[in-house]
Parts: sequence; structure tokens; C-alpha cells
Amino acid sequence: MGIELSPPSNYQRLADAPPTIATLCSHSSLQIFHGARTEGFQSLGICQGPLPRFYEAFPLGRPDRFLSVDRYSDLPGRVDELNRANAILVPHGSFVEYIGPEKFQALPVPVFGNRAVIGWESDREKERVWLESAGVRMPERFVDPSEVDGPVIVKYYGAKGGKGFFLAKNRESLREFRATGPHVIQEYVLGTRYYVHFFYSPISQGGYRVGHGSLELLGMDRRDEANIDELYKLGAQEELLKAGIRPTFVVTGNVPVVLRESLLPQVFDVGARIVTRSIELFGGMVGPFCVEGIMTEELVFKVFEISSRIVAGTNLFISGSSYSDLVRPDLSMGRRIAQELKLARELGRLGEVVS
Ligand code: ATP
Repeated sequence: MGIELSPPSNYQRLADAPPTIATLCSHSSLQIFHGARTEGFQSLGICQGPLPRFYEAFPLGRPDRFLSVDRYSDLPGRVDELNRANAILVPHGSFVEYIGPEKFQALPVPVFGNRAVIGWESDREKERVWLESAGVRMPERFVDPSEVDGPVIVKYYGAKGGKGFFLAKNRESLREFRATGPHVIQEYVLGTRYYVHFFYSPISQGGYRVGHGSLELLGMDRRDEANIDELYKLGAQEELLKAGIRPTFVVTGNVPVVLRESLLPQVFDVGARIVTRSIELFGGMVGPFCVEGIMTEELVFKVFEISSRIVAGTNLFISGSSYSDLVRPDLSMGRRIAQELKLARELGRLGEVVS
């Protein structure tokens, strides 16, 4: 038996009566609702204001019911309705972002996965402690600009959605940087970006064993980032700046990628280290997570970020990916979440996957 998370007092209901899978109507909700339906769960979409019409175009990805709030920040006042629906909340990037990490963590409604992870991944310092102590390679960090010996990226704390970054090709150009808040100076890693979609199940038997469970690789993508992805066409960052444009990394879409097969052992090793260390630090990460890194020409995978929940890049693979097809047919990340909840209920082990 693995580690019990700290389930909310009302979670026993989920074992007694069929739960409803609930998430916020955005981000990766279509595949979460589709996965819930495919595995026989009821689903509930949380929306702001009028019911979103776009679900009418996707009948298989439409939730069975909606809960409309005036503003997402009002959700803590509506938890009774969620608990009456026997809801399990599935966190995704927008859900946590719109409600706020602290408020989300404090919601007295059962959440899929270990909510303690939010405190570790939403704080860049704690995230670095976690990953480095796991033995994962990260971009070098410079405490003082005088240490800089190559291209760097400057990130503000809490900078979200890729805005507000500063790129400098060397120490000299870093002098042009004028800080407007707390920030970190990081090695700008030259290489190819990969966003690797893992799922960790603490209760599955077989497969690639990590802790008491198994680690699955369900897909991989690269993000299209405007306007920086056009940089190579212009030849140099200065060209953008000459045109009066500050480079941004705002995500505009996703493209599927596969990794050279000989590099798979390395990314599995990284995924396994991150999970193993999470178990030691805070009781373990459960369910989907994404390792975001850059493969250098020396074939070293340097991780600049981890997202400890379903990422929007998984939307590419609602009917499966080159990797998930080798796990089970028609397996999206949304469906994998529903399967995990189903298995945990059957085994009487919900306490290990819900917090
Ligand atoms: P989000 O909230 O969207 O995840 P963020 O503000 O947390 O973004 P990061 O994910 O750390 O920022 O970085 C955004 C983008 O910047 C990455 O997708 C990548 O393209 C680029 N990037 C980040 N760190 C590095 C690095 N060390 N070297 C090269 N590129 C980097």
C-alpha cells in the first residue's frame, strides 16, 4: 500500500456513491469531459456567466451539467453545490490560475491528485529545490550578472504566460536590462524544446515501475510561442528589437513531436526522479504532469519547468498519440484520469489519488 494523501473529510462519499468529474470550462476540459463520459462518469462544467456555447459543437466533449458562477473567484462560496454533486475537481492550468493557487488548495472539495504539489510548483525557488535535489539537470542560474558567460533569459517571479522575459546574448547586453521587480537570471539553453506528458499512477501494477506505482508516457508536444518563434526567420533578436518589438513567449498553439527513440531512457529517468523525490518531499505527485525542457546538441535534457497537472498540449492527442497507442488504444490524458479514479474506487484506494 502506498502513501495516503490528506483526503478532505467529505471524500468518503466518493467511495459510497458514483462521483461526478468536474472541471472549469476551458484549457483541456473537452478531453476531461470526454474521458469521464467514456469511462461512465457523470461530468460537470464550471463556467463564468452564460453557459459556453462551443460545447454544442462537440457533443462527446460536453459536460452533463454546468455550474455557472458570476466570477471564478466566487467558487469558494459555491462548494456546497459541488459537494452535493459528489464532485471530484480535476485541476488544469487555467483552473488553478483563475481561482488562484492558494484558494484552489483550500477548496473543501475533493481534488484529483495531491494538492500539496501546487505549493511546490507555483514557487520557482521551491521548484528548483525539488528538481535539483532529484538530480535533474536545469539551466544554470546566475546570482550576480558578473557571473554571466553566455546567453541568458531573465524571468520575473510570477511572470505568467511567457510575458515579461528579457533575453541577452551576453554579459554586455544584459547591462541593458532594467529590473522592475524580483527576477532570476538563467542560462538561455540552446537546443530543441520538448514538453513531455507523463502520468504517474501510485496504484497501477506493471509497466515502468516508480515508487509503488507506474510511470506512463502518453504524449509530447512543442509549443508555438509568439512572437519569439518567428525569431529565426528574422535572423536575430536585434531585428525584432529594431522593429520595436519585445520578444514574448505567449503560447499560441501546440505541435506534436516525437523524440529520438534512443533519448527515451533519459526522459524516463528524469520523470522517475521527479516522482521519486516528490514522494519524499510531499507525499507524491499523482496523475498528469509535464516536464518542460530543452535537448541540447550534446543530448542533455535540461528542464526549465514542470507543470504538475494536465497541460493543454495533451489536447493534440484526444484519440491517442504515438506513445499512448502503445499503452492502450484511444487513450487521452483526460480519459486516463477517469480510468485512474475508476480503478482507485474499485480497489478501495481513493485516498491515494484524491486529496
Ligand atoms: P508558463 O506559465 O506559460 O509555463 P512561465 O512564465 O512559467 O510560463 P517558463 O515556462 O519558464 O515561463 O518559460 C516560457 C518559455 O520560455 C518556454 O516555453 C521556453 O520557450 C522559454 N524558456 C524558458 N526558460 C528557458 C531557458 N532557460 N532557455 C531557453 N528558453 C527558455
